[in-house]
Amino acid sequence: MKFVYDFHEGNKDLKDLLGGKGANLAEMTNLGLPVPPGFTITTEACRQYLRNGTHVPGLAGEIDAHLATLERTMGRRLGDPDDPLLVSVRSGAKFSMPGMMETVLNVGLNDASVAGLSRQAGGNDRFAWDSYRRLIQMFGKTVCDVPGGEFEDALHEAKAAKGVTDDVQLDANDLRALVTAYKKVFVKHTGHDFPQAPREQLDLAVEAVFRSWNADRAVLYRRQERIPADLGTAVNVVAMVFGNLGADSGTGVAFTRDPASGEPGVYGDYLPNAQGEDVVAGIRNTLALAELEKLDKPSYDQLLRIMATLEGHYRDLCDIEFTIERGKLWMLQTRVGKRTAAAAFTIAAQLVDEGVIDLDEALARVTGNQLAQLMFPRFDLAGEPAPITRGVGASPGAAAGEVVFTAQRAVEVAAAGRPVILVRRETNPDDLPGMIAARGILTSRGGKTSHAAVVARGMGKTCVCGADEMEVGASSFTIGETVVGEGDIVSIDGTTGRVYLGELPVRPSEVVQYFEGDLDPERANEPLVAAVHRIVTHADARRRLTVRTNADTGADAARARRFGAQGIGLCRTEHMFLGDRRELVERLILARTDGERDEALAALQPLQRADFLEIFREMNGLPVTIRLIDPPLHEFLPSLEELAVRVAVAHEHGERVEHDEQMLAAVRRMHEQNPMLGLRGVRLGLVIPGLFAMQVRAIVEAAVALAAEGGTPRPEIMVPLVGAVQELETVRAEAEKIIAEVIGDSGVRVLIGTMIEVPRAALTAGQIAEAAEFFSFGTNDLTQMGWGFSRDDVEGAFFWRYLELGIFGISPFESIDTEGVGRLVRIAAEEGRATRPDLKLGVCGEHGGDPDSVHFFHQVGLDYVSCSPFRVPIARLEAGRAAV
Ligand code: PEP
Ligand code: MG
Repeated sequence: MKFVYDFHEGNKDLKDLLGGKGANLAEMTNLGLPVPPGFTITTEACRQYLRNGTHVPGLAGEIDAHLATLERTMGRRLGDPDDPLLVSVRSGAKFSMPGMMETVLNVGLNDASVAGLSRQAGGNDRFAWDSYRRLIQMFGKTVCDVPGGEFEDALHEAKAAKGVTDDVQLDANDLRALVTAYKKVFVKHTGHDFPQAPREQLDLAVEAVFRSWNADRAVLYRRQERIPADLGTAVNVVAMVFGNLGADSGTGVAFTRDPASGEPGVYGDYLPNAQGEDVVAGIRNTLALAELEKLDKPSYDQLLRIMATLEGHYRDLCDIEFTIERGKLWMLQTRVGKRTAAAAFTIAAQLVDEGVIDLDEALARVTGNQLAQLMFPRFDLAGEPAPITRGVGASPGAAAGEVVFTAQRAVEVAAAGRPVILVRRETNPDDLPGMIAARGILTSRGGKTSHAAVVARGMGKTCVCGADEMEVGASSFTIGETVVGEGDIVSIDGTTGRVYLGELPVRPSEVVQYFEGDLDPERANEPLVAAVHRIVTHADARRRLTVRTNADTGADAARARRFGAQGIGLCRTEHMFLGDRRELVERLILARTDGERDEALAALQPLQRADFLEIFREMNGLPVTIRLIDPPLHEFLPSLEELAVRVAVAHEHGERVEHDEQMLAAVRRMHEQNPMLGLRGVRLGLVIPGLFAMQVRAIVEAAVALAAEGGTPRPEIMVPLVGAVQELETVRAEAEKIIAEVIGDSGVRVLIGTMIEVPRAALTAGQIAEAAEFFSFGTNDLTQMGWGFSRDDVEGAFFWRYLELGIFGISPFESIDTEGVGRLVRIAAEEGRATRPDLKLGVCGEHGGDPDSVHFFHQVGLDYVSCSPFRVPIARLEAGRAAV
């Protein structure tokens, strides 16, 4: 196995082996660009080293050979006292991990070669001793774990002794003395002298870079960025060039386009008479790249030519690092550059216009997450405000308003025209009116799949959950010493989870205005909007998956349709049982006779019909999946504790409270230890006569009514929580009877299908498909029951530990667990279609709007994904990306 590649031997496609930096240095070398000569030690060598914890057999010999070539090319030997070759030893993994791993510069310097370096630099002793002390410092810290602070202290002392404040005020003698001081620090911590043998320095530095792959911060960064832990880093050994040799030298970074806005034109910073590390450390203020033209026109012109070459070659925005050593330009690094979400879209569209890439490639170069970022209003953080606390960014956006602590108060204050932030320990369905009225929702408990999070995302409303430093009381919340009372203003950032006191300025999203139809992409003088329009439109042309929405109201349905939804994949009817209708639901639950129950149902039915008609109208011509009621009915009753207290207090006063007593009995009767696994979904339909029948009748009547108006309703009745075909058959038989009765000659066609959200349903899908014309995967429950994780509790309780241990890289409630829960989806899709080849397959759990999950559903062969209205454009984009 070959462990070392000369820059001439590699190319940009060898990132797995050479890391990003090494592969791109090789590519630039082969393009004939001025890259300092060097070689790359492969990631495979790193992996072997980390596995065995010792030298990699064969590596030293290969380094010998490549070093000899390098020495020949440079006409110098490593660390030669008279005319030393110095090298940098730099990490470079496949994926960029900026600043996370180690680099050692000036390797090859020692007590003898420092004089040779001075001669090379035209008798510049100061420069030579400064380079030497930098080597001891970097080597000590990186290779031998000497605490960096001790070197800093020594430097500080040297300056203090001389009465100066700036490093540059130290002369050659001071720096020579500093080298002596640094060596003492080195011996103190390592028990041995700073190694003088250049080759030993090189070998130790290489191994230290290998080890830095597993440094804490690198491990943490990988986890966050979802970079696999077993890739290892490559190591680049490169001949040193110096940007700190005087006014005709310097160093800089540059981008071939503006990485913030995407606008064309080169962009960058330059620092004269400095090394790369100085730019990063921000020691002195950099100059705009354009200034270089005045300082050194030939280098500037050459740099511009090189940047054009690189962009043309990589066909994308590149960022580069360069150094000028006494008027000679050297390229130290390039890569396809990171950019903001806005720049990603704008640049992709520009490159299409320039004929560099086609629209398929433009589509591949942007992501749904980037689009999501562009859809949220954002705080203007120019004043760098300090947050008072932080929670989980559960539903992105920026919202400011008066703090209120009850849903009722939220409704009142909002009705008075003032924006509110609803603060709760956690939310429940009762809070819905308040959540609708609020600008944003802030809770101290729960994670990304808590009620607050799911509902807020559904409404496209800003939400921060699980801000657990907050103690939420009845009329104030406290964070340490800070008390925030009702009426105080807070600003919450649903992307970062940060909470601020006071009102921060907010900028609306142009991209949303465009999707809403308020901005004409052809006319708007807004390259970003035009780019989004173009790329999303292309995604629509390419995608196979249809995108529907989860919506329960006409208003949501209408907005989703403007956003491009092609129907409703989930209408949760239980949301229609709240508010004023709660009393009717109570009557249903408390009914003692068939007659009372039928009356309660009869009162609900016209209301439901009106709801459905409104939705069918908004989605005229498109399929609308209406799910029969799912949650346990006791969710519509007051809490057991509250009621018990009320009744006990009344009794104490010798009062009879008949209604409360009846209700209490009912709540006790219906109480369940595990309501999520209890009387809900299809089970309710089988236990409470007439409930599903009422809903089915309302659906079909509404459809017939729309048909009578000349519309084209396409109702799909969906039965929740089915685990056995017999359940579905029973509901189906009853529903078919009602359909036959109501439908008459309206021409309306009604489909009946089921959710697949219980593992048993997935595993018996072949049977269930006998009774279902469609399946919709309820991946929220399927994840809950597949893993046995309570969707309302777990995220705050222990997911952090699971993430830390790498058991999963992201919550399985957020992105589908393709191996486990995804396998259930795959099995059900295959076996369902084996029974019924034209079975329609969709997904309506939260995963329907998650970019990675959309790709998975495309692969599995589903027909559609359904997600909240605000996620519709994201799903359209990702479905397109999955198809190219
Ligand atoms: C699901 O379980 O994925 C689903 C869509 O239903 P709900 O979230 O209403 O339980
Ligand atoms: Mg469900």
